[in-house]
Parts: sequence; C-alpha cells; structure tokens
Amino acid sequence: MTLPGAPHLARSGVELRLDGHPLAALAREHGTPLYVYSRAAMQESAAAYHRALQGRPHLVCYAMKANSSLAVLQTFVEAGCGFDIVSGGELERALAAGAAPDRIVFSGVGKTAAEMAQALRTGVRCFNVESRAELERLSQVAQGVGIRACISLRVNPDVDAGTHPYISTGLKGNKFGVAHGDAVAVYRRAAELPMIDVAGIDCHIGSQITQIAPYLDALDRVLDLVEAVEAAGIPLHHLDLGGGLGITYTDETPPRPDEMVTAMLGRIDARGHGHREILLEPGRSMVGNAGVLLTEVLYLKPGEGAGSKNFCIVDAAMNDLVRPAMYQAWMGIEPCVQRSEVPVTWDVVGPICESGDWLGRERPLAVHAGDVLAVLSAGAYSMAMAGNYNSRPRGAEVLIDGRDVHVIRERESVRSLFANERLLPRKA
Ligand SMILES: *Cc1c(COP(=O)(O)O)cnc(C)c1O
Repeated sequence: MTLPGAPHLARSGVELRLDGHPLAALAREHGTPLYVYSRAAMQESAAAYHRALQGRPHLVCYAMKANSSLAVLQTFVEAGCGFDIVSGGELERALAAGAAPDRIVFSGVGKTAAEMAQALRTGVRCFNVESRAELERLSQVAQGVGIRACISLRVNPDVDAGTHPYISTGLKGNKFGVAHGDAVAVYRRAAELPMIDVAGIDCHIGSQITQIAPYLDALDRVLDLVEAVEAAGIPLHHLDLGGGLGITYTDETPPRPDEMVTAMLGRIDARGHGHREILLEPGRSMVGNAGVLLTEVLYLKPGEGAGSKNFCIVDAAMNDLVRPAMYQAWMGIEPCVQRSEVPVTWDVVGPICESGDWLGRERPLAVHAGDVLAVLSAGAYSMAMAGNYNSRPRGAEVLIDGRDVHVIRERESVRSLFANERLLPRKA
C-alpha cells in the first residue's frame, strides 16, 4: 500500500518502507531525528518536467532553497537540471555540487552588490531583477567588474495563487517583483544601460499552488507584457514561469507537473509564443514527497480530565521541521512499525520550550515510547529551514539510491554549534 502523493513510500505488512528500505531500521542505524530521501523519487520528478517540455528549448532550474543538500543538488545536476538560487551562499553550494554556471538563474529581492559581483564573475546565466533600484545597482556592479549582466525582470502579475499568505508572492501587496504597470518602463531603462542585456521575463506567484488556473492567469498577464515590451522594441528571448506547484500533504490534488506544464504550453502556443525558450523554477514539487523525517517517541503524556490534551513528545522539534509552527502546515505522521492497538488522539510535539513547537495536532496514533514516527512529505523546506534553537544540533540525512543507503550529511556536533563563539577575556 503506497501513501498519498508519495509513490516511493509504502507499508508492507507492519513496516513502513521507502524504496523498499524499512524506515525503523534506518532510524536504529543512523539515529533520530533523521531525514531520509529517495533519489529515484527526485529523478522521477525531474524527468516529469523534462518530458513535458521535450522538443522545445527549455531549462528546469531546481529552486534549491527547498532542499540544498549537496547530494540532492548533485542528483539534479545529473538529471539535467539547472538551478534557481537566491543568495551567494546558494551559488557556492550549487557550484560545489557540480552545477554549470550558465544553468543558474539568480532570484531574490535583496541581492547585495557583493553577491552580484560574485555571480557575474562566476558567469550565471541570468539575474531575475525584482526592482528598479536593483537594476541600477546591478548596472553599476557590472560596470565595476567589467562583465555584462543578462537580466529578466521578475514581474508581479497581481494574481491570487490561492495559497497561504506567507507563501503567496504574486499579489500587489507582496514584496516580490516589478509591478505589472511599471514593467515596460523598467525594461526601457534596462535597454538603455550599457552593461545590461535583456534576456527574458520572469514570474513566480507563490508556493503550494494546487490549481492550474492561477498559473494560466499569471501567464496571460506575462504574455501581455511580452507583447508590450517587444512593441517597445526590446526583444525577449525566454519565459521563466517560476515554480510553486503544490504537492499532496493530505488530501490536496495538485495537477501533476506534466499536466501543469502542458496546460501552460498550450496557452503559450495559442498566443503565438511557442518559439521562446521556457525556464521553470520548481522546488517543492521536485523533492517534497521524496523524503520523510524520522523521529523517536520520547514520552507519552496523556491528559488528565475533560478538555485536556494527550501529548506525544518526540525527539524532533520545530528547529528540525518548522513548517507546522510557521505556516500551521499539516504534515502526515505515520508509525514506522504499525501496532495493532486502538489508536489514541495525540498532539505530536517536540522538546523545545515554545508552545508553537508541534509537528501534528490531534493525530490518531497507536504509539509507545521508543517507537519511531515518520513525518511525511519532509523532503522540501524541512532540513533546508532547520536551525539550532535550544542548542539542538541538526539531524543527519540519508539518501536511498536503489539498494544503497548513503549518509549525505552527518549529524551535527554540539561543539560545532559554538565553535565560532568567543568567551570574554578573563579578568586578571
Ligand atoms: C521558492 C521559489 C521557487 C520555488 O517554489 P516552490 O514552491 O518550492 O516550487 C521558485 N522561484 C522563486 C523565485 C522562489 O523564491
């Protein structure tokens, strides 16, 4: 029996397995909290995007902020992907994983001059410029280092992606992108600047989008702009249509990548833009359901009396997986070895001293202390957002590749957490 949205995860008998490997055994061997990923699942999601774009010039730029572990990036390099980066740190990571600079696009509202210079010297393919002020800064930096900058403007199409406000990015009130009404003027300015080459147009309207309609609305607005910009005598080569495709956490039914892409290509062709190169920036849909987070049950704390709650205290916390605390996100939680007892309703919480430190609320589970639970769909925005609050070292990561299991990140040591700190000089 496979689990919703995660075809590589299956329960056979009582054991929950990822690509055939029993998760409880991996937890015993590598300890918890432990992130476990399926390489095959990542390869399949990349292939689904490539398949849908077959026969036309395209680049699938994996939005690496979703999961930037080196072996994950390496997997996508080998799968023919480029990268969407949002910082100089991500640029270094991508290069360390073997990415080709000319397959990297640089997004983000707050690129520093130093990051711009670093990216120019590296030879990234394109800057997705998000404001007029950033364009001026990039022009100065390009002149300073003597390297021309290819740009596309990230335009804000002002469409509602129908997702959580914190992960909605294409509305007027968001900090992202150049307003639709200003875009032609900013393109005109870009075309005047001596060291700037206009290459394309970009838009990204949000994350965990589960419908095609917002994509098509945004696309229409973008194509309107393409026509207006070209009418002003500025040719645009590529269309970067962003990322944001949702995944199944519980009962969401997002379109598959190929359905979403095919619908967009249909609209692009119908409007006579089929010759353009297509760039995409998928993140979550490439890795989200390729991974789980394993955590051991430390204590059960049943509530006393009416209205009180039952707490299942586990060894993973909001520092390991912040999505529930930050977005009230619902993530599936499954025992790695199923018990035959009657389930009890538990709030699954971590050890951190914050009431917001929970992984799941009111979950029917048959658990005992010492059992291992799997938090599902934890391949995206999980380890990548992990921190060290409460001086908690970040967990290890393993990547399953067929029969092999590779440790791709060692568990962090506590010593490393304060290795950069200094005590005050001792008084004489
Ligand atoms: C986060 C982000 C993405 C990827 O979003 P997903 O929802 O993970 O697909 C793509 N492009 C930009 C500019 C982003 O900031």
